[in-house]
Amino acid sequence: MKGEPPPGARILLVEDDPATRREVAAYLAIHGFRLVEAADAAEALARWEAQRPDLVLLDLGLPDADGSLFIRRIRRDASTPIVILSARDREEAKVAALEQGADDFVTKPFGAAELLARLRAVLRRAAGPASDATGEIRLGSLVVDVGGHAVTVEGRAVHLTPREFEVLKVLVAHAGRLVTHGRLLRAVWGTAYADEAHYIHVYVSQIRRKLAAADRTGALHDLIVAEPGVGYRVRLPLAERS
Ligand code: CA
Repeated sequence: MKGEPPPGARILLVEDDPATRREVAAYLAIHGFRLVEAADAAEALARWEAQRPDLVLLDLGLPDADGSLFIRRIRRDASTPIVILSARDREEAKVAALEQGADDFVTKPFGAAELLARLRAVLRRAAGPASDATGEIRLGSLVVDVGGHAVTVEGRAVHLTPREFEVLKVLVAHAGRLVTHGRLLRAVWGTAYADEAHYIHVYVSQIRRKLAAADRTGALHDLIVAEPGVGYRVRLPLAERS
């Protein structure tokens, strides 16, 4: 269902705090990534122009400019995945960055495993089509038959309304990755509803309730994770996270 990230993918790490930058760079290097580092927006821009990395890992609070300027610059001519390193108290900046075209975020302080999972998920997206639009998507005991509009858990049918099915389909097609409220609304309801995030919460709670009723082993408990104020993500089954 997904491509694999290229081996030795090159990451542009933009972070002004030297300790955080060193720590993140060392961790990613251990996991086979090649690192290009920048400490401010001007350096980031120069590195971006010269190297065209496979992914940008970006701190929004930079000494010489807001990181969101850099996102707009990248999105002028590239769809390179961008993952935001965000402080917990910068909720609005994070949402704005996602609207400008960033793909995902990790909130500082973040766990190393969480960071790695996010990077791999967005690189997989970049490496190939997110999902087969007419095929089956399997996540552990959950099977979503996209063409047949059918959902099963542990082989048991789960009866979703057409809208519930569309919401689940968009989430599982982006498994492991953040789907913002705006993106989900536009995909399922259309642009006129882009501000109606409460619609989504109602549908997601219905979907959770129906999946839970069929999920006797509890393996799908917390399958759909809320990212408050931002969106939702479907967790990859443990076996697929590494
Ligand atoms: Ca900073």
